[in-house]
Amino acid sequence: MSVLRVIGLVIIIGLVTGFLLYCMEGDPPVVNSLPGPVYVSDAHVHEFRVRDSGTGVEKVSAWLEANGERFDLKTENYEGNFITGASIKFERSINVTLEAKTLGLGDGSYTLVVEAQDYSWRGNRGRAEVAIVVDSKPPQLSLLTGLTYVRRGGSELAVYTVSEDADTHGIQLGDLFFRGTPHPHQPQRQVVLYGYPPQTKVGILPVLVAVDRAGNQSSIPLSIEIIERAFPQDVIQLSDGFMNRKVAELVGQTDDDVVTAYVKINNDMRKENADRIRTICEKSSEEPLWDGAFLQLPNSHVGARFAESRTYRYNGQDVDHQTHLGYDLASTSNAPIPAANDGVVAFIDRLGIYGNAILIDHGLGLFTLYGHLSSFAVEKGQAVTRGDTIGTTGTTGLAGGDHLHYGMLVGGEFVDPLEWFDGRWIREHIDPKLAPPSESP
Ligand SMILES: [Zn+2]
Repeated sequence: MSVLRVIGLVIIIGLVTGFLLYCMEGDPPVVNSLPGPVYVSDAHVHEFRVRDSGTGVEKVSAWLEANGERFDLKTENYEGNFITGASIKFERSINVTLEAKTLGLGDGSYTLVVEAQDYSWRGNRGRAEVAIVVDSKPPQLSLLTGLTYVRRGGSELAVYTVSEDADTHGIQLGDLFFRGTPHPHQPQRQVVLYGYPPQTKVGILPVLVAVDRAGNQSSIPLSIEIIERAFPQDVIQLSDGFMNRKVAELVGQTDDDVVTAYVKINNDMRKENADRIRTICEKSSEEPLWDGAFLQLPNSHVGARFAESRTYRYNGQDVDHQTHLGYDLASTSNAPIPAANDGVVAFIDRLGIYGNAILIDHGLGLFTLYGHLSSFAVEKGQAVTRGDTIGTTGTTGLAGGDHLHYGMLVGGEFVDPLEWFDGRWIREHIDPKLAPPSESP
């Protein structure tokens, strides 16, 4: 045999070996999916990723299994041939649609299986399994509080029971949601503190809702009477001196004229601050931390009340309009500010229009806000008792003269502090609903 023939033979053997190694590769396809269990009420689309690094995927089958029964969902064959393999080599996305009612699936646990086979002559298979729980029944929900009168801008508390499968429950009011938490003294029950913000559209009423992991929803409209009321109005005269000082403090350098810059602060910064406050209020103690009436700044006179409608006037022209969502309380300059009630300092820092501000968490989503401070006397995370000095009043943020802007929030929404200053109102509207079983009516 000549050298050339030997070389030729070696090349041919090499090519044949290479071809056979490719066609008979032993790497199975890899099937991936997000982990389960997945809760399904009726229709559900589940995405799988199928990867094969060798000959590529030839076929994918999906089915559902339970107690030996099998429900076929999908079979797909992909283009390719036994010599070159699949035309799309590396990765594919497979959507498997499952319709529980159409398939006649009863409530219970199933396994969704996706199996992929590659183009190798050995027919390698890979699979993924995902636990599916079919749940077509909405959570059981019952409201335990009866007819309730709520003032526009005011607060209230509802008590209810909900079955264990509920994932989220609480009160829906238009776009707002107030989250429920376990009753502090009655393990089978839930409570939700909610507000009826002053800007709520007439006709929008609170509804108790519960949603389970499969998305089934139950709802009960609250039996409620909204007590409408008129809010005070005021005109704020804007001066160049005041606006220049506040724009310099809150924005710094700007190309806007002073009125435009001030109106931007009054609108955009106010909204940003409200969003920030909502985020801070999302984390609240599940235990009520407060006890009795909330303290008003001692020896203070009320400069502005809750939900006062304010028109901002500059050189005889109305340039802006806002609702004032707190109490302005003025005492002496740099007056010590007491914590209005027991709680935990949830926030202490600069906060836009509120200047140096503190938020105290009183539990169940109830917070107090203190704005325009000149100094701080507590730290974030510190537990405070009603009456502890937390800082001193000042003029930081959008404040003209030295005063405390005092706000109350329920579930991140501003409510009227007046009810919470009133020990009798708390004893009548809140305390009985939070009491241990023997004391409840
Ligand atoms: Zn204020």
